[in-house]
Amino acid sequence: MTRSNWIVALCAVGAALALPAGAQTVKVTPLGGIEGEFCPQDRALVFEDPNGTRVLYDPGRTVAGASDARLGKIDIILVSHMHGDHVGNAHNKEPNSGACDKPDVSVSAMPNSNVVNIALAKKSKIVTGSEMPPFFAAKLKANGGDPANSILTRFGGSVTINGIRIATVAALHSNGLDPDYIGGELGKAMKEAGIAGDVGLATGYVVRFSNGLVVYLSGDTGITADQELVVRNHYNAKLAVMNIGDGFTTGPAEAAYVINDLVKPASVIASHANEVGTVNGKVRPGSKTDSFIKATKPPVHVPLSGKTMEFDAAGKCTAGC
Ligand SMILES: [Zn+2]
Repeated sequence: MTRSNWIVALCAVGAALALPAGAQTVKVTPLGGIEGEFCPQDRALVFEDPNGTRVLYDPGRTVAGASDARLGKIDIILVSHMHGDHVGNAHNKEPNSGACDKPDVSVSAMPNSNVVNIALAKKSKIVTGSEMPPFFAAKLKANGGDPANSILTRFGGSVTINGIRIATVAALHSNGLDPDYIGGELGKAMKEAGIAGDVGLATGYVVRFSNGLVVYLSGDTGITADQELVVRNHYNAKLAVMNIGDGFTTGPAEAAYVINDLVKPASVIASHANEVGTVNGKVRPGSKTDSFIKATKPPVHVPLSGKTMEFDAAGKCTAGC
């Protein structure tokens, strides 16, 4: 090699090393009910850190159990709360079974839940807040898994796994445990009395990936002061995944207020619309998804099942949006 070639080669190495961390992206892939659409039961997202760690958020009913080939390796599972559409009391037979407006939830996951079945098969860590960790630890143990794979991160604290920092934040919602997860005489008596099990408060998450991207996962929530005080002022979230479904959680107008005035992220992924949000991959006019997009200042990205989006450290979508 000539001297000038050496200089060129060394400059190339230098430029590669000087690449800012922000050039690395977090890949976000929705695992929804129907490929290419945004459907009523869709909650599940897989986040892939630049270091290869894969995080599954609220698999719900659209991940077709542990054998769903779209899952691949799952290192960490996040569960915002214990309602069946998030933890997965039932799920579809296989990916893309049923129709967008008629979701297939024909396979029961009771008394384990979709989350526990996936965690057992993938040897994933389940990271939850509030008082949910003992529930998941008991389920893992009862099924031959390792209870130590259920990990606590309670409000105000955080855990770091594979370079990903996970914290839970307040969600204004409920978190009753269906007595069918408990079973036996106790579960039966609770069911008859109309009483749910107590596993503490519902949660949202703030996750900091290894490239510096900070993501707010709202879980199911109403409007909370913490969305400004904690999620924006303390954690400085740049990407938000926001529930927009109304009735059970913030609707499009309330969710837009949360994004525009409280969290103020660089981009948003709509979630939990409880409607057919898209037809042929295009937002359905007059839908809640449509209203939310129109009312929201930062760009809203619609989570089309199977379509991977990439976000840089600043929360900007750099591919797939
Ligand atoms: Zn809920």
